[in-house]
Amino acid sequence: IFALTNLHPTVASCKDLAVALRQLDGRGFKAYRDLELTEGFGFAGSVPFHLSIDYVQADPFAPPSRLTLSIPRTATGVPDHLLQDTHRRRGLCHGLALAIAHATGQKTQDRSDLQIDRPRQQILDRSCVQWVGDELIIRLSARLPAAGRRIQGHQAARLLCERLPAVLQAGVIYEHLDVQHLQQLATCAADGDALRGQLADHDLVAFVADGSRLPRRSGIDDRPLQSHAISWQSPPSLRVELEQADGTRITGTGIRRGVTAIVGGGFHGKSTLLDALRMGVYEHVPGDGREGVVCDETAVSIRAEDGRRISGVDLSPFIGPLPQGRRTDHFTSDDASGSTSQAAAIVEALEIGSRLLLIDEDTAATNFMIRDQRMRQLIGDQQEPITPFIDRVGQLAATGTSTIVVTGGSSDYLSVADTVIAMEEYRPVDVTERAHELVPLTGNTVGAWPATRGRIPLPQSLNPRRGRRERSVRARTRHELEVGGTFLDLSALGQLVDESQTRALGQALLHIHHHYLGEHLDVAQICAAVLDDIRSEGWSVLTQDRFQPDLAQFRAFELSATLNRLRTLQVEPAPGAVA
Ligand code: ADP
Ligand code: MG
Repeated sequence: IFALTNLHPTVASCKDLAVALRQLDGRGFKAYRDLELTEGFGFAGSVPFHLSIDYVQADPFAPPSRLTLSIPRTATGVPDHLLQDTHRRRGLCHGLALAIAHATGQKTQDRSDLQIDRPRQQILDRSCVQWVGDELIIRLSARLPAAGRRIQGHQAARLLCERLPAVLQAGVIYEHLDVQHLQQLATCAADGDALRGQLADHDLVAFVADGSRLPRRSGIDDRPLQSHAISWQSPPSLRVELEQADGTRITGTGIRRGVTAIVGGGFHGKSTLLDALRMGVYEHVPGDGREGVVCDETAVSIRAEDGRRISGVDLSPFIGPLPQGRRTDHFTSDDASGSTSQAAAIVEALEIGSRLLLIDEDTAATNFMIRDQRMRQLIGDQQEPITPFIDRVGQLAATGTSTIVVTGGSSDYLSVADTVIAMEEYRPVDVTERAHELVPLTGNTVGAWPATRGRIPLPQSLNPRRGRRERSVRARTRHELEVGGTFLDLSALGQLVDESQTRALGQALLHIHHHYLGEHLDVAQICAAVLDDIRSEGWSVLTQDRFQPDLAQFRAFELSATLNRLRTLQVEPAPGAVA
């Protein structure tokens, strides 16, 4: 019934492909390269689809070959309502990627012959499964079979002409899928977005739904802690009601704009709460425990990161002239200290428009966060270049950037906190009143947040050349990019959750290098332009030369954080001030 060959007039058929592959049997591996030259292959069968082979691996041990499959929606049987908005569609794509991963038999790290970029706890836009118009586009990696360096043509024919259609049969045909799971994924994606969308109306920056389970299995395992997890019950005084996508109301803790301190004894769940909040910029899969935890989409997790590069950042709101008259309004360092790195992270986040900063004492520089009275007496203000964050946090809130800070060891922040939440044996308690009896609110902070200036990266800021390759960028791990000949450490980016995001960030750097350096745009404008390009033209805008099957969405904040850590970044101040 479905004549895909009509859609793609120049394609060959699946049978032609099988014949061609068998004929390659026993030849040198390079002969596979001919596959790249074809327009692709139309598969009729019960799942009609079009296969194109975008890239053939250079040898059996090189990174795998890349396949693109397109299937008409009508052939998948996916109902309209799952495609009705971008959020549901994102949830659906997550489910299809999982189903395909299951059908290929791949485990998380396995080297299976067919592979898809397998999603995890967060529901992200990915290049591996997408709807383009009325077609479902799937990108896979394939290891083309070889014995030594000789092509195994019969195995190859089986892989592409039998196994591939079987994987699709099991992985994308609606009636063969766990429909309930797909619905739940779509609902979770839509709900998370709906909840986040109501925060501003309620004067909130974050929300933790009652019944949420925040703890994770371990620091390297983002799945929910199975046993003994105590679920979230809001203190009555902080309880608010929000609506899910379908209109049902749910209750939970609303964290208001302003300054919120999370206090409590060690090991009582403070960091766990903050960790869940910082993931609240993403939607989570059903059963994760954080489906109902959302925060302002511009939230940035801030930490000290000594040793990082800082390029021309205006640190003057926090750090005055340094010893020997070194200025800080255009501060550059190859080896930042704990306090300067944390100051830079905040100014950089504000540059991109963050409305919520998340700070945990566990990873903050104490001398940046506070300075107590006796130390203020001993070391006069003239001798101390640092204006601690506590003196600025109220001003920031007044200009629209709230802060949630975890502080167990010191009472200082109680004097500036509009809300104080104590974690007691993993249960939140509203202790705002009691805290203010002990430590009165200091009231309106004097002075206003000083405006800083944007930064314009100079053309020589980025050099992706490596050896004979003109443009080389590679994600080595989730937290490390290799750009040209230099390494970029991203381990301080607390909201980078997936290696596919890191790969996409690497591609984005190349895109910036190609299009936006030397255009007199500041960092915020560049990041916005890249995201616009992806939104309007799709992932292919990042991968002109070779489509990548394993990219995932990132925010402007992660892109600017990546750019800011480039050791080669050089900037000039933008003419106007940013808010
Ligand atoms: P803190 O920052 O207050 O010192 P953490 O947030 O690091 O404490 O939590 C300490 C431990 O308690 C972690 O191992 C975490 O997994 C566990 N934990 C946190 N919240 C819960 C909870 N709601 N139920 C069960 N265990 C929890
Ligand atoms: Mg902690």
